[in-house]
Amino acid sequence: MSVAAKDVRPVAVDWACVRKDFPILARKVHGKPLIYLDSANTAQKPRQVIEAVDAFYREHNANVSRAVHQLSEEATALYEGARDKLAVFLGASHRDEIVLTSGTTMATNLVAYSYLLPRLKPGDAVLVTAMEHHADIVPWQLICKLTGAHLKVAPITEAGELIVEKFIEALTPEVKFAGVVHVSNVLGTINPVKELARECRKRGIPLLVDGSQSAPHLPLNVKAIGCDFYVVTGHKMCGPTGTGALWARREILESMPPFFGGGEMIRTVTFDGTTFADSPHKFEAGTPNTAGFAGLGVAIDYLTRIGMENIAAREHALLEYATPRLEAVPGLRIIGRAANKAAVISFLIDGMHAHDLATLLDQEGVAVRSGHHCAHPLMQFYGVTGTCRASLAFYNTEAEIDAFVAALGRVRKLLQ
Ligand code: PLP
Repeated sequence: MSVAAKDVRPVAVDWACVRKDFPILARKVHGKPLIYLDSANTAQKPRQVIEAVDAFYREHNANVSRAVHQLSEEATALYEGARDKLAVFLGASHRDEIVLTSGTTMATNLVAYSYLLPRLKPGDAVLVTAMEHHADIVPWQLICKLTGAHLKVAPITEAGELIVEKFIEALTPEVKFAGVVHVSNVLGTINPVKELARECRKRGIPLLVDGSQSAPHLPLNVKAIGCDFYVVTGHKMCGPTGTGALWARREILESMPPFFGGGEMIRTVTFDGTTFADSPHKFEAGTPNTAGFAGLGVAIDYLTRIGMENIAAREHALLEYATPRLEAVPGLRIIGRAANKAAVISFLIDGMHAHDLATLLDQEGVAVRSGHHCAHPLMQFYGVTGTCRASLAFYNTEAEIDAFVAALGRVRKLLQ
């Protein structure tokens, strides 16, 4: 089955009404209204998603594709439905281009071990950028160690922008693969992935784009980007944890051997050998997170119904609202000043430890993340052990940002 183009017309959205879909946002923490500013870590879930997971276990629970009974057919339809929805959401040409995984980490490891490992030899290199998440560093390091290849790193500016000329210069003949984050989880930087993909393509270098932080926030079309692999994680897209996907063209997936072996991914098995199912099923061994994918399908419907253009515009407005207000906090330094940036604000306040800040903000009901954000090399680049990070989503409000800034003022006084 081919997939239809998605409807991308922006419409006016009642954001206050949207916010009411998220039950957790009505709760209190330490007696204060929760202000959830940690969506880059994991997004909150609308009731539609929660109800879909609940309904799965109440009404449809069965294993996928293993039985002919009604419940199994329903469970399979929900699981395969998530594949259809992801294909449309990502702009894939065909549903078979979507491998369902437990998240970005598993999708990237699948590419590392199934696609790249057999293709690397001593002296080869894998190019990444200085702003990658560990999920786009460590899998390549592991296979470099097995093959005698090495990592190369394209530098960034102090503002947190990739130096595109340096990335292009680094695409030398020993580079056999490149991995780039679409939106940095620490800096919010939106990388020019279309341009990077074009340069990689000119040189025949496959490119993986880590879409963990872009899929929840930007309209996407993998074909328009022109990369070879795109990976996403469902829990950051308002979906359940333990869901995600790898997109790659069919001919690439067909060229890749299975990574995990077991049930569901085979055609025939004898003690002399096994023949495998076609892709993407040959990569989906074992019982999947069916309830999770039932929820992810609904999360994708939910995001699509609001419209990714609307979400991007709303979050940009929140970023523009928050940035000058945070800059006005004495001693506060924002790390990540890219011109093209998503609603992620990493910051430090002079003389205060990021964990102390986050702990005291939590007492005020404000949930931010503190630490290295799974990006040790980036922390090393900035000469810090960690930062505080406020990451916004479309369900946040200007009033929450005001309350966050006021809480920061009180916390500063306590720590000084
Ligand atoms: N890549 C980026 C940029 C991320 O922000 C994250 C999660 O924080 C990941 C990869 C890993 O995602 P997951 O743990 O869901 O596999």
